[in-house]
Amino acid sequence: MQKYIDSYDFAGKKAIVRVDFNVPLDENFKITDDTRIRAAIPTLKKVLQEGGSVIIMSHLGRPKGVNPKFSLKHIVDHVSEKLGVPVQFAEDCQKADAQAAALKPGEALLLENLRFYAEEEGKPRGLAEDATDEEKKAAKAAVKESQKEFVKKLASYADCYINDAFGTAHRAHASTALIAKYFPDDKMFGYLMEGEIKAIDNVLHNAQKPLTAIIGGAKVSSKLAVLKNLLGKVDNLIIGGGMGYTFIKAQGGKIGLSLHEDELMPDALAILEEAKAKGVNVYISDQAVCTQEFSNDAVTKLFPANEIPDDWEGVDAGPDTLKEWEKVIANSKTILWNGPVGVFEIPAFAKGTLRIAELLAKATENGAYTLVGGGDSVAAVTQMGYAKKVSYVSTGGGAMLEAIEGKDLPGIAAIRE
Ligand code: AMP
Repeated sequence: MQKYIDSYDFAGKKAIVRVDFNVPLDENFKITDDTRIRAAIPTLKKVLQEGGSVIIMSHLGRPKGVNPKFSLKHIVDHVSEKLGVPVQFAEDCQKADAQAAALKPGEALLLENLRFYAEEEGKPRGLAEDATDEEKKAAKAAVKESQKEFVKKLASYADCYINDAFGTAHRAHASTALIAKYFPDDKMFGYLMEGEIKAIDNVLHNAQKPLTAIIGGAKVSSKLAVLKNLLGKVDNLIIGGGMGYTFIKAQGGKIGLSLHEDELMPDALAILEEAKAKGVNVYISDQAVCTQEFSNDAVTKLFPANEIPDDWEGVDAGPDTLKEWEKVIANSKTILWNGPVGVFEIPAFAKGTLRIAELLAKATENGAYTLVGGGDSVAAVTQMGYAKKVSYVSTGGGAMLEAIEGKDLPGIAAIRE
């Protein structure tokens, strides 16, 4: 049964909470962006304020075993400060029995990086490069077997389980999915997960029409499933960024040196066909900002996006294209945006992406529901100071993409089951 934390009584209960504290650290182990920590604080505070205690678990980076560089001890002080209580630290997530048992109402314990153990992800480590298929299969079976004890141990620390880690909701890991079965009546989503789930629902299932999706980024191949799923839902589909050139080339356009995937051209044409059949309006850039050099002070020229000279490359959406997209956005009641419409990393080619951020903020002000996800799109709204001027900014790149592909995310399904 699906539960949210507002309908649960935490008094005297120990909650084990999966959060995503995978924050960037500099060479002195100082946190350079604490967004993910701040995002989980409301859930943790709620439990503490209601007289419960929290056992916090997370991964950090991609360690291949125990590695002090990826220790969560680096963030204990910061979490304590944000949470407003001193956070205790368990140096081994599998040996925290005594510390968990001693927790009193209002107290917090952070477990060491779950990924110090291969069992968290359930994938074998240290396999020889020339391992045979048999050996790989045996190693996988072994880690799956030991994973059972790993999960059981984590579950033994607490009375209830909260998943508030949307960033890893698309992974069927020990702490994100498998642990839920130990709490059949005491598992729930934290506030962050609840917000993400409702935001996706507002777009995919309960959208006010017209619904427009703006999908950008480098490659068609990584967004193919997204585009296919959206065709059944949206009224308008804006395709921007590098992936647009595969569509333009597939239709016979000249795209010069622009990024494209020849092998995806049949898929691109199939998408356009299906869009036509379903009455979806597709907008692909007509005018491209082009360059001959990937640098901030490079000379740029505008060309029709299907007539780019052989030695030029399209790197951003041109002003005429942006004007056309502006009309579509202004006429939409729900807008989903994922992926940059240009080479966002280079300020000179980031103008189109920043303009989309601005148009979304404007649309929100005029009553539209707007959901933004994906690293560059989120960076663009943040950079423009619009993070609070759009309806929802997703914290999970990969998880959000899989959700808009229409997939059931293991972290969500495990709570709902
Ligand atoms: P994705 O991870 O698929 O969302 O793609 C993001 C990447 O797409 C960013 O690194 C952008 O620089 C890149 N990108 C967007 N538009 C273009 C373009 N016209 N040419 C080359 N790369 C692009």
